[in-house]
Amino acid sequence: MITVREPATETVLTEIPAADRSLLDAAVARARESAPAWRALTPRARARALSDLAAALEQHVEELALLEARNAGKPIADARGEMEMVIDAFRYYSGAPERPLGETIPVAGGQAFTVREPLGVVGLITPWNFPLLIASWKLAPALAAGNAVVLKPAVLTPMTALRFEQLASEAGIPEGVVNVVVGAGSTVGQRLVEHPDVAKIAFTGSTEVGRQIAAAAAPTIKRVTLELGGKSPNIVFADADLQKAAAAAPAAVFGNAGQDCCARSRILVQREAIDEFMQELEQVVRSIRVGDPLDHSTQMGPLISAGQREAVSSFLNGEAPIAIRGSAPEGPGYWFPPTVLAPVDPHARAAREEIFGPIAVVIPFTDEADAIRIANDTIYGLSGSIWTRDGAKALRVAHALECGVLSINSNTSVRVATPFGGFKQSGYGRELGPHALDAYTEVKSIFFATS
Ligand code: NAD
Repeated sequence: MITVREPATETVLTEIPAADRSLLDAAVARARESAPAWRALTPRARARALSDLAAALEQHVEELALLEARNAGKPIADARGEMEMVIDAFRYYSGAPERPLGETIPVAGGQAFTVREPLGVVGLITPWNFPLLIASWKLAPALAAGNAVVLKPAVLTPMTALRFEQLASEAGIPEGVVNVVVGAGSTVGQRLVEHPDVAKIAFTGSTEVGRQIAAAAAPTIKRVTLELGGKSPNIVFADADLQKAAAAAPAAVFGNAGQDCCARSRILVQREAIDEFMQELEQVVRSIRVGDPLDHSTQMGPLISAGQREAVSSFLNGEAPIAIRGSAPEGPGYWFPPTVLAPVDPHARAAREEIFGPIAVVIPFTDEADAIRIANDTIYGLSGSIWTRDGAKALRVAHALECGVLSINSNTSVRVATPFGGFKQSGYGRELGPHALDAYTEVKSIFFATS
């Protein structure tokens, strides 16, 4: 059995049977059987099915948000925002089946053109930090492209995925097209990656597991896209609106209690601005309301598990001074206060490894070249921010940074219409926007002789 807990209280939310390899195989078989009919639906019918699904999710938005808030320990206001984004993903990709995806190419002796075809059965493996949201970025384009899917959510947070499977069925998605299997990554996840009838794996999770998945997918030459870890820089130049940059910085790293692949956890501040920036930052960090996820005024909840709290705590090892410490409740729940280490040497462990908890490091820099050098000195390359009033400098730095998603004078990362994904060991492939459809289709080139 899998015991599902509420991280805010440590109480048991429910127990569900753990799937094994044979249950996974049965789900893949169902998906394989249903895939041809789903693919053969007219584009209009598939578009309609996805917009009906979006409507069903909308009708259940409060229920889904509550389930996510309790199971993942995230503030209810954030959970509701995530569910709105889930609905947006299905609305956005419900337009995809009727949009042109191929090209015509001028060649001698006839007409050449390309078509994009679904892959068949696609395996989706997701983490616990944004459970249904990250699943939706895979589910919506995969289904729009005409694939059947087998989703393996993280065992810590399976609740919204299981509810999604029911809602998809109620909304009229044909049986077998959407399958959710809850089981351990090392058995069920591994089997999904190795399964000969699965054409592709779309994975979001740690870089370490991503590496294992790429290796396990190699024998079947399986298509793989990987959305992995990050250690993103938030670069604040002295000529920025410091008040605005400091006010925005905490949410960019303490949102979702720091369990965010895009967390701007390395705050790089130009030396001459550091005192003013730290004063502003301290005020905001101390005012963060950490507590009951179901209280509407809560801004930060607990960590996901006792193990995660232990891993995060290991970064408070005296290597760098604690400059700011916010508050957190006592008692049951995996609480950890928002914490800022400053100043931090760029070579310190806290400055190099993904902490995945509410610890930010502040690293001073001297000039533009120094900022770029420090920002790029990492194995990761997911997101980042640049704060400056100098537009030309902002663009120079944006071009120089090695990462997939950037914002200037903002800390936002995700929009349904724009591509999302990493450089370097943050992964490969892109989710969201029109690009995601490439990840769930094959290109076929056809030549039609005219002479
Ligand atoms: P994880 O890598 O431990 O697990 C992710 C999923 O993979 C889970 O469902 C797990 O059961 C499964 N899994 C584990 N071992 C497996 C195996 N051998 N074969 C197949 N599946 C296996 O990650 P996590 O702890 O759930 O999530 C945190 C990590 O996810 C962080 O590193 C974070 O940066 C990353 N993340 C990345 C993004 C992104 O878009 N780049 C988004 C969210 C989270």
